[in-house]
Order: sequence, then structure tokens, then C-alpha cells
Amino acid sequence: MNIILLGPPGAGKGTQAQRLEAERGMVQLSTGDMLRAAVKAGSPIGLKAKAVMEAGELVSDAIVSALIGERLDGECGAGVIFDGFPRTQAQAEALDLLLSERGRKLDRVIELTVDEQALVDRITGRYTCANCGEGYHDRFKRPSAADTCDNCGGHSFKRRPDDNADTVRTRMAEYRAKTAPILPYYEERGIVARVDGMTSIESVGAAIDGLLAEPAVG
Ligand code: AMP
Repeated sequence: MNIILLGPPGAGKGTQAQRLEAERGMVQLSTGDMLRAAVKAGSPIGLKAKAVMEAGELVSDAIVSALIGERLDGECGAGVIFDGFPRTQAQAEALDLLLSERGRKLDRVIELTVDEQALVDRITGRYTCANCGEGYHDRFKRPSAADTCDNCGGHSFKRRPDDNADTVRTRMAEYRAKTAPILPYYEERGIVARVDGMTSIESVGAAIDGLLAEPAVG
């Protein structure tokens, strides 16, 4: 089963992808995570992507499609969850090619629908444990003991440099202009489903699980 989680920044794609990975043995392929790793490593791709990401704009289609292609050649477990990819029509077409070349296909595109103003609040408050990556939020999910990660006991936390209000607005504008318009491409195949992303993490998860339990479509 290969699925795309689609939705603006902060819609909960990463949270749900991590849960599906842990519970179902699927593999989360997040181009945002891959690019952040490249920036951290100071690789040629990272050097190119850094300023673009900090501005909230989109990295080139060729770079992200190549990153996905490399990962599809590796271990794909019980299936792949595309998180933050594709983000443009060119990427959607590149993905079709990458999958068909490997004898795979897309089963579902799940759009997480959200309220944009609420998203700005969600994103600007979020941070993660610097050690294990567990996600937290200033208002919605604080560690139970102050400054101590519930998951690993770490004491150091970090915020993404692009999680500030200005950059978030650019990222949303990019989503509206370039990513939302690819939905009809998948709607034609009858594989799009929508889930209300404004409910709790658990209810969004239950709705996604319900969709994945239905017979494959397309
Ligand atoms: P994300 O973690 O998915 O919110 O991505 C963070 C940033 O990485 C985005 O704002 C873009 O600058 C870049 N990025 C991630 N995925 C893509 C993609 N599929 N196409 C272009 N840029 C991307």
C-alpha cells in the first residue's frame, strides 16, 4: 500500500506518517526531513536548499524527485507514506514514473483539511526533542515534567528555523498556488479521500485507519 498525505504545513502529515510507520511497518518518506538532513550534513543539495527552505519557498522538482527515487530503491517495508511530496504537478508526474518503473502504484491520496489561521498557531508553537525527535507544542502538548522529554528523558529541544509566522505564510501560499492544484490529477483516478485535520491526533488517525481498511481503489 502506497499513500500520499497531502495538506498544508502543520496539517499533521508528519505526525500521522510517523504513527503509520510505527504501527504498520510502512516507511515514511518525507522530503522535508531528507532536505533538513542534507542541510545539516552540509552536502551539495543541502547547500542549495538551505536559503530556499528558510524563505518558505519550494526546492527544485529535480532535487526532491531524485531524493525520492533513491529512497524508493531502498527498503520500502509494508508500503510507503509520501509526506510533503509531491508538492507540484511536475513532482506528481515524476512520482508516477518513479513508481511505475519499480512496478508499484499509488493506492490512496489522503488530504488533511485544515483552517489556515489555526495552522499558524499550531506551527509557530511546535518544537521537538533534539535527541529523539519526539514532537511537542507550547500550548497543546508540553512534556509532563518541565524541560524533560517524555520519550527519552533528554533535556534539549529545538525549533525549525522555518516555523516562524512570516515563513509559514509563504509556505501556505506555496501550498495554495502549487500543491492544492494537483488534487484534480488524483481525483480523476478516484483515489482521493479527505480527512478533517482539525480534530485530535487520535481522531485523525482513526479516520485514516478507516480509509486504509477499505478495499484498494483506483
Ligand atoms: P516540510 O518539512 O514538508 O514542511 O518541508 C520543509 C521545506 O522543505 C519546505 O518549505 C520546502 O522549502 C522544502 N520542501 C520539502 N519538500 C519539498 C518538495 N516536495 N518540493 C519542494 N520543496 C520541498
